[in-house]
Amino acid sequence: MVLCPSCGKAVFFAERQLYNQKEYHQICYNILIKQENASKPKTFAIHEQIFCNVEENSKFKYPLAPAGGYYVPDAKTINCTKCSKEAKPTDKFCTSCGNKLVV
Ligand SMILES: [Zn+2]
Ligand SMILES: [Zn+2]
Repeated sequence: MVLCPSCGKAVFFAERQLYNQKEYHQICYNILIKQENASKPKTFAIHEQIFCNVEENSKFKYPLAPAGGYYVPDAKTINCTKCSKEAKPTDKFCTSCGNKLVV
């Protein structure tokens, strides 16, 4: 007779659920999985970067994604070649001197 590691009661063949080489009741197993899923951090969020290299992955790991999404800094700023004022890469001309910007 097999005893459920979760509740300690006998597990009948029809209701057994194998997990970690142990046999649980179907109900106990469901509770166990729910608890485990609730307690463990997410492996990754869909919008996070995934690398094949494990070391790369750990560098970019975020335990939980913020609800509001990540703060994405402005792609990059460029500087006017004439007056060296900062300009957005989407700008065609310098807002300060009107110089044509090259991205
Ligand atoms: Zn059980
Ligand atoms: Zn300029």
